[in-house]
Amino acid sequence: MRIDVVTIFPEYFSPLDLSLVGKARTTGLLDLRVHDLRDWATDRHRTVDDSPLGGGAGMVMRPDVWGQALDAILGSPTAPGTELIIPTPSGSPFTQRTAERLAAVPHLVVACGRYEGIDARVAEHYRAQGVAVTELSLGDYVLNGGEVAALVVVEAVARLLPGVVGNPESLVEESHGAAGLLEYPVYTRPPQWREHTVPPVLLSGHHGRIARWRRDQAFERTAALRPDLMRRLVPGDLDEHDRNLLAVLGWSVTDAGVVPGSETVAD
Ligand code: SAM
Repeated sequence: MRIDVVTIFPEYFSPLDLSLVGKARTTGLLDLRVHDLRDWATDRHRTVDDSPLGGGAGMVMRPDVWGQALDAILGSPTAPGTELIIPTPSGSPFTQRTAERLAAVPHLVVACGRYEGIDARVAEHYRAQGVAVTELSLGDYVLNGGEVAALVVVEAVARLLPGVVGNPESLVEESHGAAGLLEYPVYTRPPQWREHTVPPVLLSGHHGRIARWRRDQAFERTAALRPDLMRRLVPGDLDEHDRNLLAVLGWSVTDAGVVPGSETVAD
């Protein structure tokens, strides 16, 4: 997979030389290139911003500079299998489903905004050219720039590429996986630490009971911490044991889905 990141702070991306992403780059699983947007500025000061038309605070990133950079990186015409990612607080939420989808895209180009953001015509222009453009938000808060968002996207996507995480099994039961649950609590040695012991079932060596306990814990955690995720559970994925546990936790499985309490759905 190839990922190009365009930024006015290329140094921001040095952590991507470390750990699993760094290794993926060294072994060639991930071809990550970081570009300085100012290389496409045309004046002596390498200016990339200007004041907002219509007035107001702050500065806006210029479409002409972004246009030069993106034309060069996206290519003309842009090859199929290329997607332009623009981090912005007004984008659609970046989730594990988004990461899974992007992990199957051969070439991502991430455009990091700064100041008040990138002139809106940039996204509009490349969409009109037929380029897949996705505006993504990390969450409902405002960062100073798109670099942190780009780091998040690169890491979340890269770890899904085959061969990046040593044991692919470790991706299966994670939070926000296919089951739609938070992960169960995890423990390691020593089994007794200070006044805390681990749940005895984990020392039983009984794989079936351990799997059941972990699934129960995942439901309990999800119900307690993320009721919004409970509502998205798929009834067909829930066995009788799950349904009984959900009832104890205060959730009902109805034709319309999983709902709090003993709510029933009107005809
Ligand atoms: N004026 C913009 C607004 O109110 O929507 C905020 C601009 S923000 C200060 C500068 C840049 O940070 C954005 O262009 C974007 O690249 C990035 N950014 C800030 N918050 C973000 C978020 N929640 N998700 C993704 N990117 C974000």
